[in-house]
Amino acid sequence: MQMLQMVDPLVYQAIKAEENRQQEHLELIASENWTSLAVREAVGSVMTDKYAEGYPRRRYYGGCEYVDTVEDLARRRVLELYGGHHANVQPHSGASANLSVYLAALKPSDTILGLELSHGGHLTHGSAVSVSGQLYRAEHYQVSSVTEQLDMDDVRDRAHQVHPKLIIAGASAYPRTWDFAAFRAIADEVGALLMVDMAHFAGLVAAGLHPNPVPYGDFVTSTTHKTLRGPRGGFIIVQSSWAKAIDKVVFPGLQGGPLVHAIAGKAVAFHEASQSSFRQYQSKVIGNAQRLAARLMERGLRLVSGGTDNHLILVNTLASGITGKMAQERLALVGITVNKNAIPFDRERPAVTSGIRIGTPQVTSRGLDMAAMDELAAIISDVLLSDDNQDLSPYAKRVRELALNHPLPGLEE
Ligand SMILES: *Cc1c(COP(=O)(O)O)cnc(C)c1O
Repeated sequence: MQMLQMVDPLVYQAIKAEENRQQEHLELIASENWTSLAVREAVGSVMTDKYAEGYPRRRYYGGCEYVDTVEDLARRRVLELYGGHHANVQPHSGASANLSVYLAALKPSDTILGLELSHGGHLTHGSAVSVSGQLYRAEHYQVSSVTEQLDMDDVRDRAHQVHPKLIIAGASAYPRTWDFAAFRAIADEVGALLMVDMAHFAGLVAAGLHPNPVPYGDFVTSTTHKTLRGPRGGFIIVQSSWAKAIDKVVFPGLQGGPLVHAIAGKAVAFHEASQSSFRQYQSKVIGNAQRLAARLMERGLRLVSGGTDNHLILVNTLASGITGKMAQERLALVGITVNKNAIPFDRERPAVTSGIRIGTPQVTSRGLDMAAMDELAAIISDVLLSDDNQDLSPYAKRVRELALNHPLPGLEE
């Protein structure tokens, strides 16, 4: 850091300010986490200097012997973690992992079927503003209006109506467990391929606390930076019949040189995810989310689907009389960071929404426990239900104390 401070004080100060922001606020954004110092050391290493187009032992550049070691480790470890036949660890992000699958499996204007964005799905699952909704004929299934959970009979009916070439399971804002066997059966019935995008819950799967999609999906895509707690990036696991096609699409089809420093960070994260301490961590992530959900409901908040099985909670803020945008802004006033999020059958614009998404991965990484969840539930519900001229400073003070009592130095558990 001393070097950066000398060479570029502006960037240095922004990084320091971000460190302070993370230390002093409670980050409840469900897609964020806190990487270990080991992961960050790998990502900040000289691996960033190396061009390595191609794959281990089939590179277009010389001098790749050590980056080969790193990419081999990452590929081997991710398969040890999840099973499966072939992994590609080069996707720069979750979005490029998904696009790679589409480019390998589909022709333009083929039909894809994924969960509706406002019901928890992701932009890359066929939204009109994403290339996935522009290149392909995108159809969507929804959650039940009664349970706000997936009803597999509805998904099956939808699949029979639209005859997709590819069915997509997985989401960004779905608080419940996925039934991959049912998705596989439906895909087989209608002659579709199955892609599971486990970006959000990959860490839970690695810990054995959510069903593993790898035995069921033709393709499983993921990010590495959400519950999995690695560096920013993506990966793909495929059945062996798709290995060649996927590798060709990722490079040279879509990307140029891999981010070898990020792949080094992924290798470290996969190693960390194989430890028993990681399983304990993920079990606390779920325990904290369920405790927070129970307490929020006791205090009268309405949760989409009435609770959670995983690391995230969706609050229906409209039921408390405020928009998602207002809820996000109010919580920001006391140092709690969340994101506004559409809820099923939302009538507000995406920039406003009727809900917020709350996740426990990052605060669990900094050691917040169930007692802290009880306190957080009280703070969140009081703040959401407060009126505009109420003094929120006691809440802000308490959030800051909770944060500073659980500093973010490293991840030794
Ligand atoms: C986060 C997410 C992505 C996109 O990942 P990026 O790395 O931001 O591109 C894709 N799919 C799902 C389900 C996600 O939650």
